[in-house]
Amino acid sequence: MAIDKTKYDETKPHQVALLQLEIAAERLGLDEGMKLKLQNPKRILIVNFPVKMDNGELRNFTGYRIQHSLTRGPGKGGIRYHPSVDLEEVKALAAWMTWKAAVVNIPYGGAKGGVQCNPKEMSKGELERLTRRYTWEIAPLIGPEKDIPAPDVYTNAETMAWIMDTYSTLQGYSVPGVVTGKPVAIGGSLGRNEATAQGCVYAIEEALKHLGMDLEKATVAIQGYGNAGSNAAQIIHKVGAIVIAVSDSKGGIYNADGLDPARVQKHKEKTDSVVNYGEGDNITNEELLAMDCDILIPAAMENQITKENAHEVKAKLIAEAANGPTTPSADDILYDKGIFIIPDILCNAGGVTVSYFEWVQNIQSLFWTLEEVNNQLAKIMKRSFWDVAAITKKEKVHMRTAAWMLGVGRVAEATRLRGIYP
Ligand code: NAD
Repeated sequence: MAIDKTKYDETKPHQVALLQLEIAAERLGLDEGMKLKLQNPKRILIVNFPVKMDNGELRNFTGYRIQHSLTRGPGKGGIRYHPSVDLEEVKALAAWMTWKAAVVNIPYGGAKGGVQCNPKEMSKGELERLTRRYTWEIAPLIGPEKDIPAPDVYTNAETMAWIMDTYSTLQGYSVPGVVTGKPVAIGGSLGRNEATAQGCVYAIEEALKHLGMDLEKATVAIQGYGNAGSNAAQIIHKVGAIVIAVSDSKGGIYNADGLDPARVQKHKEKTDSVVNYGEGDNITNEELLAMDCDILIPAAMENQITKENAHEVKAKLIAEAANGPTTPSADDILYDKGIFIIPDILCNAGGVTVSYFEWVQNIQSLFWTLEEVNNQLAKIMKRSFWDVAAITKKEKVHMRTAAWMLGVGRVAEATRLRGIYP
């Protein structure tokens, strides 16, 4: 039976996640009971908590930790601080983590957390107090064997250090394995900071081989210049591609001869934005997405390529470093234009993969070299790319549906093997 896509509101990330699941479930022939099990998050915790602001006022914040699935292992997923954080967004992000961990075949379930706030308007002290109180609120759910947070939009290694310290204080001993993406000095992994971007570039290299294209001198446009975007720019520049445009929430910059990503990063650190970087022209985010280039890397937020602007996309390859940047109707338009997509649950899985390595190192109290980390990451990203590519061939589907079939199929199999309690 054909799926009625109009039942799903594409402006809502969780509805998009449900439609993507429906498409994969139908292809896999999953029954209704299994579908319902996979649609619904296992556990949702909503917390409301006060934080003392610098001016002495008490402000109340709402936070979430959602465990979508714990079938293949402990929950795993980042923590986001952003005004858009709400139940719908976190539900989608948690579900995407489940499928992502399964696509790269690491022993985790999926989870995600977040606090609705605007970190750009908060001081470091306020962010630390918010983080410590939020950690206390979600402490019953997290732990190295239960659910392991990591950084996401507007959180970073410092945020993870505060979470680790707060959780450890509550336990009475150091628990480095409660979070990943920590500073290396307190048990973080070498290579974790760049892992999402590095994994994305490994996936791009395989995709280009698949398409018979060359990375050397390929032109690249990147939306978002945070952890995923700025590292992707620097890594892909180092391996010979030409980064012609980048952007952040304030706008973008363009230089046909290529930008120097490390210098752009310094400019952003100084001025808080990539905009007004001297050696290029300012552009809008809309212009960036429509850039005439070989590779487009969305590395910011959900819902950026939609049915309204997908017609404008000129890139040959889209590598989704962000989670959920493309809506299902946009997918259809992009496929019709012959654009190849490396879907988010494959393309940005380098982050969770090196998080897994960090957790393994914490459990063993044994640390790896950067070379070991990147070799293992390359192996997993390459294997996963070709696993997904093989499904596209066998099942005659595009990369997104193939990745979902792989991820959902593995979780469904684990569910069947474990059986249902009681
Ligand atoms: P970050 O906070 O480090 O950076 C976010 C960047 O996006 C910033 O440069 C910000 O200015 C920009 N941005 C925000 N809103 C924007 C908009 N509307 N238009 C253009 N730019 C905008 O966050 P991050 O960790 O790099 O995460 C970016 C994306 O990558 C998210 O979708 C996240 O879920 C995904 N992701 C991150 C990781 C990770 O390890 N950090 C792993 C997997 C996926």
